[in-house]
Amino acid sequence: MEVKDVTIIGGGPVGLFGATMARLHGMSAAVIESLPELGGQLYALYPEKPIYDVAGFYGITGKDLAVQLIEQAEHFSPDFILGQSVESIRYLAGSEPTYELTTPTGTYRTRVILITVGIGAFIPRKLPAEGADRFEGAGVYYLMPPLDHFHDRRVLVIGGGDTALDWTLAIAPRSQHLTLIHRRDHFRGQEESIRLIQESPAISVRTPFELVRINGDTHPESVVVKEVGSDHEEEWLMDDIVGGLGFLPSLGPVKTWGLSLKANTINVDPASMATNLPGVYAAGDVAQYPGKVKLIATGFGEIGIAIAQIRSYIDPSKHGLPHSTNLKGIPR
Ligand SMILES: Cc1cc2nc3c(=O)[nH]c(=O)nc-3n(C[C@H](O)[C@H](O)[C@H](O)COP(=O)(O)OP(=O)(O)OC[C@H]3O[C@@H](n4cnc5c(N)ncnc54)[C@H](O)[C@@H]3O)c2cc1C
Repeated sequence: MEVKDVTIIGGGPVGLFGATMARLHGMSAAVIESLPELGGQLYALYPEKPIYDVAGFYGITGKDLAVQLIEQAEHFSPDFILGQSVESIRYLAGSEPTYELTTPTGTYRTRVILITVGIGAFIPRKLPAEGADRFEGAGVYYLMPPLDHFHDRRVLVIGGGDTALDWTLAIAPRSQHLTLIHRRDHFRGQEESIRLIQESPAISVRTPFELVRINGDTHPESVVVKEVGSDHEEEWLMDDIVGGLGFLPSLGPVKTWGLSLKANTINVDPASMATNLPGVYAAGDVAQYPGKVKLIATGFGEIGIAIAQIRSYIDPSKHGLPHSTNLKGIPR
């Protein structure tokens, strides 16, 4: 069986950049992704939301950034194994230790594992309101449909964190009107998002309100909301309801691999991105250390550190990372 130098578990933005960097620095690499598409949260959760804090782009949508990262990785021809969730890993000790990785339909061998599973499977927190289940996918959304869908429609967004705030800002310019409700008076998201929402004439913010019921026949026609802490209810005409309550972290099988965990993240040494298991590294949203910031830019930086360490782990005579322009074998 072929033994890869590095096998990357998770084909989100950080795993994709990991594949580019591993190949660029002369290592064989495979990416195993549980979904049928690469791109992670960028592609699955917010393909049309603009991102402003990735170096080199004034603003780029999630999908476009995913496409750029996939194209960049494809230049270096790593193996992509899609639609396969890694269920277990097994350490094979010896003079040249390796790991065996198992998915429901295959077994793979690798010297090093780089875990970039982000928040794991994307399981949205569902709206605890009457009618929410009935209209899911037809007026009630947890993953954003194309933004054009909201053109000239009345939209209700529910939630108080970054997911709800980001979706509010992305949808509002397309909608006829957008109302954001949250069951507390204070939002937990980024201050700049809160300021933009409060200043926008296209957005009404109502707090502390919660969704009670969605009325309609084949699609939502109105919603009933309730002021938290009182019996006061209001009915508003509404076309679309977007649940922005965040996602349930679900590392799934990763939790059984003997890694040192903190809640749904993996403890790493930030100087090396090494986990507690030999030859197993982690980067991106799943990697945890004091001061961690969950941003794409942070994940890219962590890849630089991890790949330098992995290169020395595989060949102890090598240290650090040379500049890319000095490398042989770059497709030009
Ligand atoms: C609404 C929203 C807006 C955001 N906006 C921004 C922003 O503007 N700027 C910014 O920097 N960040 C933003 N973020 C955060 C950013 O998306 C994450 O930091 C980034 O996606 C982390 O990348 P990752 O590769 O570590 O993980 P992910 O993107 O989560 O990718 C992990 C991949 O691993 C796969 N996977 C999981 N388990 C397994 C398994 N066992 N086997 C195989 N594959 C597996 C998953 O399917 C997934 O594709 C936002 C997040 C959300 C939800």
